[in-house]
Amino acid sequence: MSPDQVPALVVDWIACDGYGLCGDLAPHLVGLDDWRYPIIAPGPIDARDLDDARRIVDCCPMRALSLRRPDHRRQREAPRPSPILPVRADIAQR
Ligand code: SF4
Repeated sequence: MSPDQVPALVVDWIACDGYGLCGDLAPHLVGLDDWRYPIIAPGPIDARDLDDARRIVDCCPMRALSLRRPDHRRQREAPRPSPILPVRADIAQR
């Protein structure tokens, strides 16, 4: 598997309840903060950790963890062009 095909671990922060199970099962992939919310390094995981990553994704009770390809992350995080709003002539002259 080439490095650009290795997925990243991604947390859905709305779904995560901070049970901390992911950090208990795979402390080499997920750290836990004082409230037991996950701390995950950004970017692709090590290919050797893929089985462990799949395991914690499957075990997450809130389905808050997922594995995403780096290109998927880039698409979601790409900046959107700001809208160009029309200027009303009567307001622009004030
Ligand atoms: S196992 Fe799931 S719900 Fe629990 S802390 Fe990890 S991501 Fe959040």
